[in-house]
Amino acid sequence: MKKKLLPALALLSIAFSSMNAQNIVRCASYDYMQQQIAVNPGLQQKLDQDEINTAAFTAAHPNGYNARAICTIPVIFHVVYGNATQNISNQRLIDQLAVLNKDYRKLNTDASLVPSTWQSIAADCEIEFCFAQRDPSGNFSTGIQRTSSTTSSWTMNDNVKHASTGGADAWDRSKYLNIWVCSISGGILGYSTFPGGSASLDGVVLSYQYVGVAGTSAPYNKGRTATHEIGHWLNLRHIWGDDGSACSGSDMVTDTPNQASENYGCPTFPTTDACTTTSPGVMWMNYMDYTDDACMYMFSSGQKTRIWAALNTSRLSIQTSNGCTPVGIAEATMQNIFSVHPSPTTGAFTLEFGNASQENTDITIFNTLGEIVYTQHYDALNETELHLNLEGNSAGIYFIEVRTSTARSTKKIILQ
Ligand SMILES: [Zn+2]
Repeated sequence: MKKKLLPALALLSIAFSSMNAQNIVRCASYDYMQQQIAVNPGLQQKLDQDEINTAAFTAAHPNGYNARAICTIPVIFHVVYGNATQNISNQRLIDQLAVLNKDYRKLNTDASLVPSTWQSIAADCEIEFCFAQRDPSGNFSTGIQRTSSTTSSWTMNDNVKHASTGGADAWDRSKYLNIWVCSISGGILGYSTFPGGSASLDGVVLSYQYVGVAGTSAPYNKGRTATHEIGHWLNLRHIWGDDGSACSGSDMVTDTPNQASENYGCPTFPTTDACTTTSPGVMWMNYMDYTDDACMYMFSSGQKTRIWAALNTSRLSIQTSNGCTPVGIAEATMQNIFSVHPSPTTGAFTLEFGNASQENTDITIFNTLGEIVYTQHYDALNETELHLNLEGNSAGIYFIEVRTSTARSTKKIILQ
């Protein structure tokens, strides 16, 4: 709900104000922003100017914004792990990207749960995400970078964002959305920068337990921590305006009801509060509230306009990034990476490698629908043979892709 525009400092949130009974901090983005402002006084001025630009863009699109083309944002996942559990699988990251591609296109199946009164403003944000296909130097990338670290628990002191302190350096934020996956201390699920801060810190940090779908920790087990945090990266604020429980703060969006404070769990519709006392009440199913993953399923049209204000001002360059464009690789140079036998097979088969050592190897098997049936990452594959088995899958043709940091090759196998 839009009311008077408040300076960002008035939106100060109190550390751990967002901690619920389970000692979970759903999101620490506002605390993180205040931390950044404290060490970088010029940031407040930038944020204020950004708000003026956003207001101008919003005023120019009073009936909402429709993108002329989908914006596809290249994502680099920096998985920084201190032990094997934290080194989450490729599948978790693939699932996570799929959630984002549904939520930001209103293709999530639970969009049907949006109350009828808000169905007309539930927005297809017209944003998609890809795994970065090339690194900032133009070399081949899987969009997943894994860093082994001696640190297994990270505070918000930014060490995870620098290789010099055991983490991983950000890629150029004008071309990529940086997402660090690590273990965050203090029960924090995730936090993000807003547009306007330091380039080396720009991006989202997610605690590994909440990334992806299968294998994640309930009730934050549907990949919505990333949906919420990327909302901040695209300049969205919390739906209640981060004003404690007052009714004076705003999320700077006109079509979301005024809301006193965050909601947890899974409220029942309609839920009213001190700032919206009559039905239909507050929009607790919005991704920018703090409800359980299963109970948040919409962005509003006003939020979409605010996102596109960011994409047309502070984050304009991401629209022309080539990060989603694969690097042309001469297949001929890769013929010797591996061979497959036997084919046809009844299940068991062998991948044979020409080289005994392959660094950063990803092995992925797809069916003809492009669905992944197997995926495995090796920091260093020191085998000349790998024995795999497709038993239990439907008979048919499968494609085996082997990617290393410099090469990619795909072979076909027939399962009888
Ligand atoms: Zn948040």
